Amino acid sequence: MKQRFQNKVCLVTASSTGIGLAISEQFAREGATVIISSRDKKHIDAAVEKIRNSGGKAEGYACHAGKIEDLQKMIQFIKEKYGRLDILVPNAAVSTHFGFVLDMTPQQYDKLFEVNLRGVYFLIQAAYPLLKETQDSNIVIISSIGGYESEMGLGMYSVTKTALLGMTKVLSKDLAPIRVNCCAPGLIKTKFSSVLWEGKEQAAAEFMKVERLGVPEDIGNAVAFLASSEASYVNGETLIVAGRASPRL
Ligand code: NAP
Repeated sequence: MKQRFQNKVCLVTASSTGIGLAISEQFAREGATVIISSRDKKHIDAAVEKIRNSGGKAEGYACHAGKIEDLQKMIQFIKEKYGRLDILVPNAAVSTHFGFVLDMTPQQYDKLFEVNLRGVYFLIQAAYPLLKETQDSNIVIISSIGGYESEMGLGMYSVTKTALLGMTKVLSKDLAPIRVNCCAPGLIKTKFSSVLWEGKEQAAAEFMKVERLGVPEDIGNAVAFLASSEASYVNGETLIVAGRASPRL
């Protein structure tokens, strides 16, 4: 096993389950200290225990990814405790409406943009000074294949994910020398996406034209590459991890 993240401190939001947990586990397997963060302390404690039981270094911090004050306090906690932040993965997202795109309520619309865009922007704003102080630090934003193609009633969720592709480009220039890249997962088997595949995996795979549905570890591996020094000459890019369902040239 490579040890690409020895002595590094990594923060992944929404990391108590699913893709965020798989990314954190990969960092921890390779020597990092990971900060596990989501809203529910019970979920966080379970994830921290899982990583520690496998010999990894993990610590939990409860934080709503749409609340700016929570995000700022979490970064302050990391600064005080570790004095560094090597890798930041804004991973949290919600999907507040499924169906015809113009049927959203203002509340659904605001919540969607609050977590998926505003939260990502203000997390990065809060973390920037600490990332700047840490040599070779970088950011990997989690978008979605839905940012390229809106299918299956995801509507404005896809728009927030398209915006993250643009945010990656802009930040990758303005934040230099901090690298900023993005990962766009395809359909990955998690609770978040369960409405799209549970009880109909074969049909979902056929619809997506993929050989199999993705698993969180597929994204853990891809993000670990982008965050590692192996990708030190990769900046402003989005890596689509979606089997054969790649939506661009
Ligand atoms: P998931 O398995 O449902 O995980 C959700 C995680 O988010 C949990 O740890 C949950 O913990 C936390 N969470 C939910 N709302 C939160 C909030 N407001 N603040 C902080 N934490 C919150 O989801 P996932 O599939 O891993 O999705 C992770 C990312 O991948 C998202 O950005 C999603 O858009 C993207 N993505 C997923 C797929 C897919 O097919 N699964 C495809 C493309 C992109 P608590 O309940 O404790 O807060």
